[in-house]
Amino acid sequence: MKIELTRIEHINTVEIRNYREKLLEWKQKAQEIYDEQRANDIWLASESLEVNVLFIKAFDNLKNGNFREAWGFLEGCEIKCVFIEKNSDKRHLTESRVLYIQESVKKFQSLYPYCVFVSPGFKVGYYTCSICGQKVRPRSRCGHKKGSLYNGELCLHEGHELDLMEVSIVSRPVQKYSVMHDDSTLDFSVLEHLMSFLEHAFEEWEYEKKTMSFPREKFESVLESDKCPCRSGLIFKECCSGKEEVSMPHIDFIFSKDIPPEKQEIKFPYGSPKDG
Ligand SMILES: [Zn+2]
Ligand SMILES: [Zn+2]
Repeated sequence: MKIELTRIEHINTVEIRNYREKLLEWKQKAQEIYDEQRANDIWLASESLEVNVLFIKAFDNLKNGNFREAWGFLEGCEIKCVFIEKNSDKRHLTESRVLYIQESVKKFQSLYPYCVFVSPGFKVGYYTCSICGQKVRPRSRCGHKKGSLYNGELCLHEGHELDLMEVSIVSRPVQKYSVMHDDSTLDFSVLEHLMSFLEHAFEEWEYEKKTMSFPREKFESVLESDKCPCRSGLIFKECCSGKEEVSMPHIDFIFSKDIPPEKQEIKFPYGSPKDG
């Protein structure tokens, strides 16, 4: 099935709700008569639709400035995409837009100011296979492979007798849900700027990270004791304050559609020098 949903108002229609229910019903029927191929195909169709729905929700939250909620939906997409990718082929990934979603999720995530996460460390007593319920032991394996499909169900290893050992603060977590920041202290202006151009979740866009130099007088509003605009981490006085020009990280967005000239100006975060 080719998925045509692009906007939040497409998701909550009666047709889509019925279709999502139908998929589950069809899968159950196929599972009952052990038509494994059909059950797996329906799993794939259903998960691919769900990932489209999640991505549209992420986009809608980004558009409305709910960055934390959007982050959660993006992470949901990332996890689902891993399993879809494992159980399909290139053609399906393209047609179902999973490939597009995977790439977009990475791009959106990389524009977030988040960099610290909580990562819990567990000691796991034992794992069981979600398909047959057997204990997973190093030597005697049940034969089911983690992440593969069996009669329309994904094989996962479920941990038991979990003991929380530690909670670490990390910058590259295994799962990205537990953000440690208070959003109100962060700058989301890059995402806000990007979202002001995008109208729906499946528009083509790219970005390029570069550095750009501005004359020193443009930084009048930066105090000597502030962090240096060049993002070295040093304070302005001890870094670029004495230079004629200051180089700053800069992002160029590239869109496939035409952008009106009045929207093409360079966004400079420090305001312009006071007139008069
Ligand atoms: Zn098993
Ligand atoms: Zn500097």
